[in-house]
Amino acid sequence: MLLKGSCHCGAVSFSLRSKHPYPYQLCYCSICRKTQGGGGFAMNLGGDSASMKVKGAKHLSVYRARMKGSGDKRAHRSTGQRNFCSLCGSALWLYDPTWPELIHPFASAIDTKLPTPPARTHLMLDFKPDWVKPDIGRGDKKFGIYPKESIADWHRRHRVEK
Ligand SMILES: [Zn+2]
Repeated sequence: MLLKGSCHCGAVSFSLRSKHPYPYQLCYCSICRKTQGGGGFAMNLGGDSASMKVKGAKHLSVYRARMKGSGDKRAHRSTGQRNFCSLCGSALWLYDPTWPELIHPFASAIDTKLPTPPARTHLMLDFKPDWVKPDIGRGDKKFGIYPKESIADWHRRHRVEK
């Protein structure tokens, strides 16, 4: 399906094709929480980077998080490029050159009506603060860090590829 998205002030808008548009992944990591606010989670979709069109690209800024694992001596920059509007701050999508064919738009930036997921996956729960109470439904899956299942695999398992 075609996804259209925009930032809050309207300076940046974009569109891309997605076979994997269900917003089923709730990420509770500190990067998503701090850069996107809300209930403590962000939701990524899977889209095709070759189909991406952007208006107002000059207003984009990119954030690459500095991360330090428990065994790491020094922090390193995430390869993930979080694109956001430099005027209003809306988080728009994540692009990681490790997987150049993919774009992960944030469901919060999408204006197209998205399908309601039949079940959800809660990830990065190890990084959730106590005040965030996850709403875990029947059939939902929970992970302290990342699930092994990719966004594409989840859509195949539920037979909802577009
Ligand atoms: Zn904006």
